[in-house]
Amino acid sequence: MTTGTITEPADVLAKLLDVVGEHGLHTGSAGTEAYLTDWSGEFSGSAIAIVRPSTTEEVSRVVSICAASRIAITAQGGNTGLAGGSVPAGNRPHVLLSLNRMKTIRSIDTVARCATVDAGVVLQTLQERVAEDGLIFPLMFGARGSCTIGGNLATNAGGSNVLRYGNARAQCLGIEAVLADGSVVSDLSGVRKDNTGYDLRDLLIGSEGTLGIITGATVRLCPAPVATATAFLSLRDVEASFEVLNRLQDVSGGLVEAFEYMPGPLVDLVCEHIGCRQPLEVPAETGILLEIASSRPADAEVNDDGEACLDALLTEALADLMEDGAVQDAVIAGSGQHRAELWKMREAVAESLFSLDHCYIFDIALPLSEVSQFIRDSDTSVSDAGFQPLTVAHMGDGNLHYALVPARGADWSTLPLEDTKTAILENVSRRGGSFSAEHGIGASKLSFMRRYRSQERLDAMRKIKHALDPQDILNPGKTIPQRG
Ligand SMILES: Cc1cc2nc3c(=O)[nH]c(=O)nc-3n(C[C@H](O)[C@H](O)[C@H](O)COP(=O)(O)OP(=O)(O)OC[C@H]3O[C@@H](n4cnc5c(N)ncnc54)[C@H](O)[C@@H]3O)c2cc1C
Repeated sequence: MTTGTITEPADVLAKLLDVVGEHGLHTGSAGTEAYLTDWSGEFSGSAIAIVRPSTTEEVSRVVSICAASRIAITAQGGNTGLAGGSVPAGNRPHVLLSLNRMKTIRSIDTVARCATVDAGVVLQTLQERVAEDGLIFPLMFGARGSCTIGGNLATNAGGSNVLRYGNARAQCLGIEAVLADGSVVSDLSGVRKDNTGYDLRDLLIGSEGTLGIITGATVRLCPAPVATATAFLSLRDVEASFEVLNRLQDVSGGLVEAFEYMPGPLVDLVCEHIGCRQPLEVPAETGILLEIASSRPADAEVNDDGEACLDALLTEALADLMEDGAVQDAVIAGSGQHRAELWKMREAVAESLFSLDHCYIFDIALPLSEVSQFIRDSDTSVSDAGFQPLTVAHMGDGNLHYALVPARGADWSTLPLEDTKTAILENVSRRGGSFSAEHGIGASKLSFMRRYRSQERLDAMRKIKHALDPQDILNPGKTIPQRG
């Protein structure tokens, strides 16, 4: 790891100052660590300045100034990305362009059920605002108090309820962005269907700041659930997962919002890290955090047994699954506080894993039919190699955050990490999976791109990049590996 630094400013700084003012330009070295080092602490870079524009027009002028001097620009939202994409890479002079002054929720249309926001709006801020209108913006994950809508779109973020609502791409109706020459493209009308040629919105989503700077977005909103049933399950084995998920989808009419795999050792780690209690009296070897939610008022009504109808539906379904043997034990959250405790445990997984001295985490996706066997095979092979597998998974999407930590007593420095990583990735590839499910490529997975994506595909990406950013000033060194 290198330390984040501000290098000597060039004369562009005066022009940038003219655009964003003193409040929007930071050239000293104090306080830059938070911008120039990523969340994991693994990636850091240097910049001639931190520039914080407050409007789309200012972003456009900043990009034009940088383009004229061939200064590279790394866009940054909440700096919570997990692929090392949010900080400058390489030795070229960079500007770190933070969107953190662009925080306006421009409009909320409760009839069309959409919101138009600045890119720097924090995810949780939007969620809290639309909750006042009985609506939700459904992206859900542990960084929602810091990550931004622009960052969510730039990474095509996922999270725990993609299963029901889809990823960031599925929530986005339109984007406003500044391209590499400073021009602004904008499509924020909220129109639902628009087949007018190439879809710039979809091109920009997931492009990790390499094709344009997202400055605004129109996103779809959904009705807020009025009834929620949350449970922690102990399953017979990992093979039972999809039998249980499918049954719950069938009986609820597709209301499963989250189906998160949390095996025993992972729950132990989190409970120890945040000091929470085990969800079940007998710890589950194959644990699942499950949530079903409904916006139908009838599902919130209380039945003759004093139970909310949705809870009753879940209780009945789980009783059947226990009789069949797929579920061995379960606890249904009996209060809002109990539900919050279960979710706190899930949302503390990333920080618990990152608190360990040594840990390598994959963000992989597999076809659902391959997930159980993949976990079985991989757990056996990595254990044989001296690692302990610690997996958390958005199981309903086949998205595994498969983590390797040293087995008890093992010396990390002597373990065959590179060989084991290769074996896991080969296994993913053989089964038709992806080596990057939701975190993106950034700077951390360029070698995987080179190895597991065809030359034709990479060349097509390079052509698109060159067409939109011929000087390669937008987040160079990210997402697309260099030739060779
Ligand atoms: C505890 C924790 C849990 C997480 N859980 C999940 C999870 O479950 N699912 C998931 O998908 N991710 C998860 N993440 C990763 C991260 O939160 C997401 O990738 C998030 O979308 C990043 O948003 P950000 O605003 O922080 O972006 P940043 O980290 O600032 O940037 C990420 C990338 O997007 C680019 N970018 C940012 N803003 C813009 C913009 N306005 N225009 C163009 N490019 C831009 C950056 O250049 C960079 O390449 C988690 C992270 C943490 C720390």
